[in-house]
Formats: sequence, structure tokens, C-alpha cells
Amino acid sequence: MIVCKFGGTSVADAAAITRVIDIVTARQASTPVVVVSALGGATNQLLDLAHKAAAGELLGAVQIIEQLRDRHLTVAAALLGDSAEGHELAVEIGGAFDELAHLAEAFRTLGYLTPRSLDAVAAMGEILSSQIVAAAFRRRGVDAPWVDARDVIVTNDVFTRAEPDAEGIAAACRARLLPHVQAGRIPVLGGFVGATPQRITTTLGRGGSDYSASLVGAALDATAIEIWTDVDGMLTADPRVIPNARLIERIGFEEAAELAAFGAKVLHPATIAPAVQRGIPVYVFNSRNPGGTGTMIAFDAPRFPVRAIAGKRNTTLVKLRSTRMLLAPGFLRRVFEVFERHRTSVDVVTTSEVSVSVTLDDEAQLGAILQDLADFGDVAVNRRAGVLAIVGAGIADSSAAIGRAISALGDIPVHMASLSATGINFTLVIDDEHVVPAMQRLHGAFFEQAVPAA
Ligand code: ADP
Ligand code: ASP
Ligand code: MG
Repeated sequence: MIVCKFGGTSVADAAAITRVIDIVTARQASTPVVVVSALGGATNQLLDLAHKAAAGELLGAVQIIEQLRDRHLTVAAALLGDSAEGHELAVEIGGAFDELAHLAEAFRTLGYLTPRSLDAVAAMGEILSSQIVAAAFRRRGVDAPWVDARDVIVTNDVFTRAEPDAEGIAAACRARLLPHVQAGRIPVLGGFVGATPQRITTTLGRGGSDYSASLVGAALDATAIEIWTDVDGMLTADPRVIPNARLIERIGFEEAAELAAFGAKVLHPATIAPAVQRGIPVYVFNSRNPGGTGTMIAFDAPRFPVRAIAGKRNTTLVKLRSTRMLLAPGFLRRVFEVFERHRTSVDVVTTSEVSVSVTLDDEAQLGAILQDLADFGDVAVNRRAGVLAIVGAGIADSSAAIGRAISALGDIPVHMASLSATGINFTLVIDDEHVVPAMQRLHGAFFEQAVPAA
């Protein structure tokens, strides 16, 4: 059994969905389960219209609803033609957007949104796309039942970033997916979406369809988890920043997880953990170039000092300086309890005798955090910071790679530097505006002949 997950661009229109069907049917012997994202860009539009409605811009919200309705109907019609199933699906799609229009009115009246209501809206993208894809398979003669992800991905109720319940998911996968797989059918479900045990809709956080795929793969002990996207695999850097980034044919689980956590959007950061637990290889392939070699992510991979770099912008750096500092037992614990209390995870940490520096991705609770930290000492904040991750299993084998990284940065000031305990990630915190030039210089130093001029 394998899991094949297709991202937004891979299901963006009828032609893309046709490619998906070709890719999956060519793998029929491996008994695939298919996980799909929303049609490319649909999640952003759904969230956007909810925010517009709550801000009183009902007209703008309705315009987006009508655009999305048209797009879904057009894609479904192109794939299903004038068939009975095409008509049924059109009615389903129409009903979903009518309901969305009612919701938008309710948001306008209320004047606010809750994380729970945002999840109900965002989930519609995957619920509809997966129904369209399943019906398109059937139209091509493939027995592909639609499975509602809310019956499979059991989560807690931390809306907009719900955490999965692995045991609940395993039981649901055995009950809802396995019988189809065993009967030679190809079940299709939406990624990103889940539900609480009370069946209230949740989502796993942006980009979460990759995570859905690896949760299903782990639950069913798949032989492979395939992430089909719009690039040839994991590359030595984000190709939008470094156009000549190179394909990595094989990379270790830990390296891939570090890259994902530090900005390589090609994989949702949580994707690797379920795969590692079961030792299931994760592949990244390009749905526009299905013959490509792609990337294999597994335990054993060639050991390089630096395998890839990643960068993350829009990070917040918080520096706490205190004279009652580190040697006092329990001091750091109390500092970190502040972040825990405000449900904010900390990314990079460095400490000195009199200071602690941390970076945060999520600024939502920043005000409350700063207030609490002020009890410990002086607090300074840089809300325009960025993080660079230089990742390689052998980065700590000598100091050469780290020396090369630092010298490549030249005159770019560094606010924090840290080597992970696993010795595979050398992380630097710099100013947000320097992230792109820093990545160019680092990529030049490690993967190109000459360091580009600054
Ligand atoms: P999908 O919709 O298929 O999930 P995403 O947009 O979430 O696709 O992820 C794919 C994108 O990730 C690529 O188009 C690329 O711009 C970006 N990306 C960032 N870092 C990397 C990297 N190291 N390797 C490959 N792609 C990367
Ligand atoms: N559609 C969701 C998003 O845009 C999930 C995903 O694509 O992985 O965040
Ligand atoms: Mg993605």
C-alpha cells in the first residue's frame, strides 16, 4: 500500500487532475490511497472571504464565493461532462457554496470569526476537491470511493492547528480505508482536514495535507508516502529564492525534517515524524514531470557536510537580559513556562550568562508574553528577523562548513547562532531583509562554483 498526496497546484484545474489520474493509475499495482489538497489557491481565498465578511465587506466575500463556485463547477464539468455523476456533483458543489454564503452573512452579522469557524470554512476546499477528484477517477473507470477525511483524521480541538490522535486515526484507517484497499479500490480523501471525536471540523494547519498523507501512511503501514508537488523534489534551497537550486536525490529523515521546520515549504514540518516511526520512505515528486527521479527521504542517505539550506522570514526575535540569571536553578524553566502558558512555540534558543534569546514564528500572543517576561529583566524585541538553517548530517564533522558559512555571510550581521544537538543544523538569526542575500551567498558558497558578488 502506498499513499499518494497531490498538492494544490497538482489539482489546480482539470488538466492537472487528469495528470493525477494518470500517475495514480500507473501505480495501481501498489494499491494507492490518494490524498488531495484544495484546488490551488482555494484555501487562501476561503480564509480571505471569511475575514472580509467578518470585517463587514460582504460584497467582497460574496464575489470570492461566486468565483470559487464557478471554478469548482467548471473543473467538475470539464472532468465529468454531462454525466449523472457530474450533475450530482454540481448539486453538491452548489449546496456547499450556498451554505458558505449563509456563513458569510453570519460572520458579517457577528463581526468576528472564531478559529472553529475558520476551520469549517477552510476545510471546504479539500472536501470539495477530493469529491471532484474521486468522481473524475470513477469517470475514467477506476473504482475510487470518496472518503470523508473527518471520519479518518481524528484530532484534538486546537482549531486551525489541531493535533492528531494517532490511535484514533489508526482505528479509523483500518475501518474506513483498509477495506477499500483490500478490495482493490482507490480511496480518495482530502488532506488538511480532520475532526474532533465529537466530529467538529478541524484543520492541521496551513500546508497540512502532507501531514495527513504521512498520518494515513503510518496508520496503514504503507510502503511509501509520495508527496506530489510542483517542483522536481527537495532542492538545495527554495527555487523561488535560488532559481538554480539543485535536486537532492536522497536525504535523511532528520535533515528533511530540519529543512521543513526552517522554511522548506515543500514539506509540512510535521510530515516526517509519523514516517520515521514506521521507517516509511517519503518521496517528493513533480506531478508535471512524473518521469523524474524525485527525492527519496529515508534513514540512510549519503552524508554531506551541507545538504541544503532553508530560510524563514518574518520571525520575531525576543532577547531577555537579566542579572538574576542562568546559574539560578529553575530560572530558564520559569522563562520557558511563559511561552508554554501562551501556547507559543519557541524556535531557536541561545543563552549566555546574563541573557536568553529566542525566536518565535507566531506573534499572536507576543504582547502577553512580553508583559510576563518583563518580570525577569529587560526585554528587547526585533519583529523583523529571519532564520537561516544550514543543514547536513556531517556539518559538525569538522569546523570547515561552519567556517565557510560564516565567511560567506560577509558583512551581514548575525544576531544568534546555534548548532543543533543532533549536529545537523547550524542555525543563524539575522535581519529579515538579509535573508534573501544571505541565502544567495550561502548557496553560492556550498553549491555553486564561486561565491556571487554581494
Ligand atoms: P503543494 O501545494 O504541492 O503542497 P507547496 O507550495 O506547499 O506545494 O510546496 C512546494 C513549494 O515549496 C515549491 O514550489 C517551492 O517553491 C517551495 N520550496 C521551498 N523550499 C524548497 C526546497 N528546499 N525544495 C523544493 N521546494 C521548496
Ligand atoms: N490547502 C491547505 C493549505 O493551503 C493544505 C495544503 O495545501 O496542504 O494550507
Ligand atoms: Mg504544501
